[in-house]
Formats: sequence, C-alpha cells, structure tokens
Amino acid sequence: MELFWHRRDLRLADNVGLAAAADRDEVAAAFVFDPDVLDHASDVRVRRLLDGLAALRAEYRDRGSDLLVARGDPEVVLPELAAALDAERVVWNRDYSGLARERDAAVRTALNGAGVDREAHHDAVLHTPDSIRTNAGDPYSVYTYYWRKWTDRETDEPAPTPEAGDLVDAEALTAAVGGADGPLADGGVEASGIAVGDLPAPADLGFAEPDADAGPAGTEAARERLDAFLSEAVFSYDAERDYPARGATSRMSAFLKYGEIGVREVYEATERAMAAAEERTGEGGEAGDGGGDGDDEGPVAAVEEYQQQLAWREFYTQVLYHNPEVVTDDYKEYEEGIVWRDDPDEIAAWKRGETGYPIVDAGMRQLRAEAFMHNRVRMIVASFLTKDLLADWRHGYDHFREKLADHDTANDNGGWQWAASTGTDAQPYFRIFNPMTQGERYDPDAEYITEYVPELRGLDADLIHEWHELSPTQRANAAPEYPAPIVDHSKRREEALAMYKRARGED
Ligand code: FAD
Repeated sequence: MELFWHRRDLRLADNVGLAAAADRDEVAAAFVFDPDVLDHASDVRVRRLLDGLAALRAEYRDRGSDLLVARGDPEVVLPELAAALDAERVVWNRDYSGLARERDAAVRTALNGAGVDREAHHDAVLHTPDSIRTNAGDPYSVYTYYWRKWTDRETDEPAPTPEAGDLVDAEALTAAVGGADGPLADGGVEASGIAVGDLPAPADLGFAEPDADAGPAGTEAARERLDAFLSEAVFSYDAERDYPARGATSRMSAFLKYGEIGVREVYEATERAMAAAEERTGEGGEAGDGGGDGDDEGPVAAVEEYQQQLAWREFYTQVLYHNPEVVTDDYKEYEEGIVWRDDPDEIAAWKRGETGYPIVDAGMRQLRAEAFMHNRVRMIVASFLTKDLLADWRHGYDHFREKLADHDTANDNGGWQWAASTGTDAQPYFRIFNPMTQGERYDPDAEYITEYVPELRGLDADLIHEWHELSPTQRANAAPEYPAPIVDHSKRREEALAMYKRARGED
C-alpha cells in the first residue's frame, strides 16, 4: 500500500503524485492539519480549506474509499500513519515555499528514520522552478523573457485519475486506523488522533466562521467555472480583463491555490480553446504579442493572454523558490533603504475602505465582502497604500493574506513587491497610479464603485470620478456619508518620488 499526503492539491484528477502512487499499488489518502500552517491561516482560508477537503472526501467516498484526516506535526503523524497502514511509501507533491520545503525535509528525515520510503513529485506548475533559466543558467527576474521560454516548452498531459480499484476501501481504512475509538485514537498522535473522514469545524482549529463568502470549492466547481470561462469570456479576455465591473476574468485563483484543478488540465483546455478560435477565425500560427491594456487583437491572442497569466503564477513561484527570503525582505534593496511613513490611521482607513478615493474603497470593500478583489483593483489599492500613503507593502501583504481566499504566498508577495517597486519585475518607482484617473478609465460608469460603495449610489459617474476636486459643501450635498479624500494625491506623489530618490541615495 502507498500513502498519499494531500497538501495544496485537493483533487484526484491530474494529480501527478497520486497518479504515480496509484500506478504502483493501492493508495490510502490523508490530509494533516499542521499547527505551523494553521499559525499562518485566517478565518476565510480555513473555511475555504475545509470546503475543499469536504469536496475531496466526497470524491474518495464516491470511489468506495475515504480521506484520512489527522492533526499534528506531519513529522510525527506520517510515520505513525504509515506504520498503522503498513504502507510501504509516503508520496506527495512538492510545495515550493521556504516554510514548506523545511517541513518536507523534516518529514523526509522522520520517514527515513522509521524505515518508510518517500517520494515527492512536481505537480503544482507546468514547468518546474528549476527548468526555466537564462542562457547563463540563472533564474529569470524579468517576466517577458521567462514567458518566451515558458510558452515554447512542451507541456505534460494531465495525469490519469485513480479509479475505485486503485484506492484502499473505506472499511479497510477504518480497520487500520479507526475513528475516535480506532487503534490510533489514543496513540502518540496529538489529542485529536487520526480519523477516517472526520473533518473538524473551524472552531476546533481555533478559527471563526468568516464574514466573507469563501466561494465555491472542489474540482467539480472549478471545472464548471473554467468551462464557462473558456466557452466565451476568454475570447475577449485581453480587451475586457482590466474592467472590474465586467466580470471578464476566470476566477480560478482559489481553485488553483488549493489545487482543486490541475494546471495541466487548465492549460490543455486553453489549448483547445485556442484551436477552436483558430478554426473559427482562420487565424493560425503565432498569436501575436499578447497585447494587454484593453487591446483587442482577436480571440487567439486573447487566449494567449490568458495563458500569460498562468505563466505569471509560475514566474512568481520560481521567484519565491529561488529567493525564499522575499516573504519578508525586499527583493530589490535600495541603496539607502526606504523609510516608510506608516501612519496607522491612514493604514486603518485603507483597510476599512474609507480613504475617500472611490475605486480604492470599492476594492477594499470587495475584499472584505467576497474575500476576492479584481486584479486591476489589487494593483490600484496596492499602489495607493505604498505610494499615496507611503506605507510599507508588508502591511498590505499581511492584510491580503488575512482576507483573500486565494492568498498565495508567491503571487501575493510578487504583486505587492511589484506595486512597491521593490520586486523582480517591479514597475519603476516613478510610475505612480493616479487613483482617480484609474477609476475613470477602468470603471467609467462607476458600476464597480457603486456596487461596493453604497454611499455613492445614485450619483453621476462624473461626480464620483471628480470626488477629490469637489468642495466640502458639494461633497456634503452629494454623498454626506462618504469621506473626503484622506490625502492629496498630487502632494503625496511628490513625497513618494522624494522618498524613493532618498532610498536610491539621490538626494
Ligand atoms: P485571471 O485573470 O482569470 O487569471 C487566471 C489565473 O492566472 C489566476 O487565477 C492566477 O492563478 C493567475 N494570475 C493572474 N494574474 C496573476 C498575477 N498578476 N500574478 C500571478 N498569478 C496571476 N493572485 C493569487 O492567486 N493569489 C494572491 O494572493 C494574489 N495577490 C495579489 C496581490 C496583489 C497586490 C496583486 C497586484 C495581484 C495579486 N494576485 C494574486 C494576482 C491576481 O490579482 C489574481 O491572481 C487574480 O486577480 C485572480 O483572479 P482570476 O482568477 O479571475 O484571474
């Protein structure tokens, strides 16, 4: 028997490690609630994780098997579980963050000590962090060059899905480890023991039910969403993706974060969509340069632009893999260091969505209500925090980490360091978004803004986009409940430029 350890791959389909284990022998599957991982979790992500686990468990049950659920340090739990099951080998898929790699190294040592074989697979990305390098053999720090190599590489087919006969049946699992009264219940594995199919409630793990909706979970929901996106919206993705009111993006991020759908499966589906577009339009060969920023270069280029986002995810994964310290440190350090202003009241107003800049406030309130924020708006609120409030990007990162259902260390960190001009592929420090013109350009009718900022409903879009220029009396007449801008963008822009110049040792 083989024991498969699920982590960020809550699925049976296109799961490289699980397929490899099932190809050799019968598989028992387990998930371990690791206290170190829970230390970094949040209410919404625990809810989302539990929903994903419930969907995963249902898939095992449909095949006559079940999911073993344990709580404790994986170094302790896994050797015990392997012994109870008499499993020959523990198999898992690699997680590329620094913390995960340290944990996996400790688990490897513990399993070696217990005489249990182990095997780790590449699964979470199409192209492993080590496989795409510059001609000089270094990891890429510029996305455009990375993308060219990424898109030219051959990709693997989706891994086969295990069938009922590949899995240990539920009765045998119960006999081996039992539930609350089973052989391992009072064993050395922390108080909760190991159970078959028993999922804890958030409160059992020290978390509350979140205020925000954690969104749908599981492979079936992921496939439904992907199919719907790839049957229509993807063909105008390049032209529409920057407009938050249009719902034109795939909303796959949380599914990908928890690994409820395999990236090979997603990529293969985009290739099919591209082939269909080529056939329809008679376009062939190269899909153009991908465009962006509202360009509409036809459906083939639109699908390619979507694939570019999948490549951003893998780009940031390799940045984190090669530079695990970026979780806390600037990737690009300025000679003199940046001295952030860090005003606690301003940061608090940003978190509450009460800055008096409508598009910023709409984004922060979408985050609070839906545990999600549109990408263009993530860029705007991140620029606002770092370059208008002159606050350290780590405040923003920590807040996103707590509130986003799709929080992914690599992508979140990459996004924040990009906005703060401290990242790999960062925007130059002198490029500072103007939150009013961004709102006007990407939400011209203020539909997105008024969805999340009810105080501004009923106002003319023009008035909303001029909020910073209105007099106090005009503001009081138009929307008495909505705050005046907490900072003056043009003044803060100058201060930000001076702050970065000082950091560069230029003054
Ligand atoms: P789509 O546009 O449909 O893109 C498809 C997929 O590509 C996404 O699901 C995601 O997996 C990937 N992707 C898209 N854009 C990016 C990007 N810029 N960087 C890396 N991967 C990308 N994404 C996360 O998954 N988790 C995060 O914690 C996260 N934090 C961010 C923080 C900031 C400050 C910024 C600017 C961006 C962040 N992103 C993060 C990237 C991006 O905003 C989200 O992936 C995207 O909004 C998710 O919506 P979607 O699935 O509809 O995206």
